[in-house]
Amino acid sequence: MKKILVSVGTRPNLIKITQLEKAFQAAGDFEFRLLHTGQHYDYTMNEVFFEELEIRKPDYYLEVKGDNQLDVIAEILKKVQEPLLSYQPDIVLVPGDVNSTFAVAFAAQRLGFKVGHIESGLRSYDREMPEEINRMLTDQISDFYFISEEDAIDNLLKEGIPFEKLHFVGNTMIDTLVAFMDKINTRIILETHQLEPQNYAVVTFHRPGNVDNVDSLRVILESIRQIAEQIPVVFPIHPRTRKNIEAFGLSDLLPKNNLVFTEPLGYLDFMKLIKESLFVLTDSGGVQEETSYLQVPCLTVRPSTERPVTITDGTNMLLALDKNIIVKECQNILNGNFKDGNIPDLWDGQASERIVEIIRELL
Ligand code: UDP
Repeated sequence: MKKILVSVGTRPNLIKITQLEKAFQAAGDFEFRLLHTGQHYDYTMNEVFFEELEIRKPDYYLEVKGDNQLDVIAEILKKVQEPLLSYQPDIVLVPGDVNSTFAVAFAAQRLGFKVGHIESGLRSYDREMPEEINRMLTDQISDFYFISEEDAIDNLLKEGIPFEKLHFVGNTMIDTLVAFMDKINTRIILETHQLEPQNYAVVTFHRPGNVDNVDSLRVILESIRQIAEQIPVVFPIHPRTRKNIEAFGLSDLLPKNNLVFTEPLGYLDFMKLIKESLFVLTDSGGVQEETSYLQVPCLTVRPSTERPVTITDGTNMLLALDKNIIVKECQNILNGNFKDGNIPDLWDGQASERIVEIIRELL
C-alpha cells in the first residue's frame, strides 16, 4: 500500500485538496494522511473550511505561528522533519504557492522523499511576489508536476524540467467548486444581506503589493467607495487588509452606504456570492479561476497574473492600480459591456482523479 501525505497550510491550500482523499480511496491501495503546518489557524481562515468542505482532521499539525515569513518557513523546516521521518511517505503532495508549499517540499526533498506539486508551473514573472519565488523553488525540487493550465507546460520546460514529468490534469480548485455546487446553490447569504442577483459586486484584496502600502490601499478604498455609489459592494475582508486599514488610519475611506463589510466568509457563502454577482474586483489568485469557471466578470488589480488562461479563455481582466481605470472598467460592466469567456480545458471537476491515476501508474 502506497503512503500519500498531503500538506496544507493556508485557506487556498485547503480549497485545492478537498477531493483528493476521496479519489485515493476510490482507487484503493493507498493510505492517505494530511499534514497541516498551521500557517493559517483561526476559525474564519481555517476551521470553517474543514467543517464545510468535509476535510479530514489533520493527522499531523505543526502549530507553526511565526510572526514573519522567514520565521514561518524556518519553523516548518524544523517541525516537519519528525512527521516525515516517522511516516515515511511514498510521496508528499504540496498544493499552490504559499510559504508552507515551499517549506514542506524543501524538507521532504532533502530527506529523500518524492514531492508532487499541485498547481505547478504557474508564473507571473513578477519576482516581487513572494508566491512567485515559492512556485519557482518548489518546481525546481519536485518529482511530479500536476498542471492546471497549459501555459505552465512552457514555463516548466523553459526552466529545464523534463517533459515526461509534466502532467496536465486540470484544476483541483475547480474540483471543489464542482463537488460542492449543490450545497453552494442552497445558501441564503443574498437574502441575509438583502442583495439581488446580478445587482452587487464582490471585492477581495490581500496581496502585500496592494495592501501593505498606505498609498495603494488608499487607491483601493477610494475606488470601492466610488463603485458603491452605483452598486452595492460586498467586501469580505482578509485579516491582513483589515489590520492595515486600521494601522494606516484609512477606515474613514470605507463607503458609508451600500457596503456589506464582513469577516472572511466560509467557502459556501463566498462562492454563492461570487456566482450571483454582477462582477468581482480582486487581487486573489483563486478567485480569478473561480470567476472564469462561473463565467462572472473579474477585474484583477495586479500588474500580472500567473493564471493567463483566465484572461485568454476566461472572464478575467488585469487592471493597473489606478482609481480612474478601476472605476471606468466597473462602469463598463455596469453598462453591460464585458467579454464572454469559456471554461478552460480540463477544468471539469476531475483533476484530483487524474492526479491519483498518474500516481498509481508512475509511483
Ligand atoms: N475564499 C473564501 N472566503 C473569502 C475569501 C476567499 O472562501 O472570504 C476562498 C475562495 O475560494 C478563494 C480562496 O479562498 O479562491 C483563496 O483565497 P485567497 O484569495 O485568500 O488566496 P489566493 O488564491 O490569492 O492565494
